[in-house]
Amino acid sequence: MKTLLKVADLTASYGKIQALFGVELEIKSGEVVALMGRNGMGKTTTIKSICGMMSGCTGQIEFAGTSLIGLPSFKAARMGLGLVPEGRRVFPNLSVRENLTAAAIDGAWGLPQVYNLFPRLSEREHQSASTLSGGEQQMLVIGRALMTNPKLLILDEATEGLAPVIRQEIWAAIHKLKAEGMSILIVDKTLKELLSLVDQCAILERGRTVWNGAPNDLTDEIANQYLGV
Ligand code: ATP
Repeated sequence: MKTLLKVADLTASYGKIQALFGVELEIKSGEVVALMGRNGMGKTTTIKSICGMMSGCTGQIEFAGTSLIGLPSFKAARMGLGLVPEGRRVFPNLSVRENLTAAAIDGAWGLPQVYNLFPRLSEREHQSASTLSGGEQQMLVIGRALMTNPKLLILDEATEGLAPVIRQEIWAAIHKLKAEGMSILIVDKTLKELLSLVDQCAILERGRTVWNGAPNDLTDEIANQYLGV
């Protein structure tokens, strides 16, 4: 399999506060990779760095053969990064359909494919996004990222704060995306769901990658040490 994303020696800071000290991460085409670690260890900062949202990063971020270091976020997005950020931001005054089409880029993913993945969105196509439940808004944000036909889908805490039934719908959708060959980088707190989904894991501890491997190789000891479970 070809390498889609390679991050090496990545550092990043918020002003004078350094948050990343050497992140290593590799995603091959078609792989689903979990970025793991306790709260505050640098998962979101790593994602923001990849997506061009942290100024002054150093190190290597190679994506589909191009260096992303120093690229602004709109250019990184155009290169094929589909980000579903923490915190579910929809355009509240636009309809579901308008939210989906606002940033669409031609490709295999269009409205019919998104509606097929999330039938609830199709039923609510003409409603304003502000009237959706939290879970439906999350589906909308995922759908919007898919409408950009990304080479890599990045999900940062996509199931956080949702009712169990809705979480299951989202996990089912992510499994479908994987089965269709989508490359995915995912951060999520539900370890059990995560480990049954992903091909590879990278664990961060205080801004550094401290462990890389397949879910089967993640022993209780490693989970205890780095994930606090
Ligand atoms: P969580 O699971 O809580 O979201 P995380 O692993 O995603 O955690 P980050 O949000 O990347 O961790 O935070 C990494 C470090 O950077 C933490 O020490 C955090 O306090 C710091 N940090 C994050 N955002 C900012 C900010 N806007 N300004 C200053 N420091 C920040």
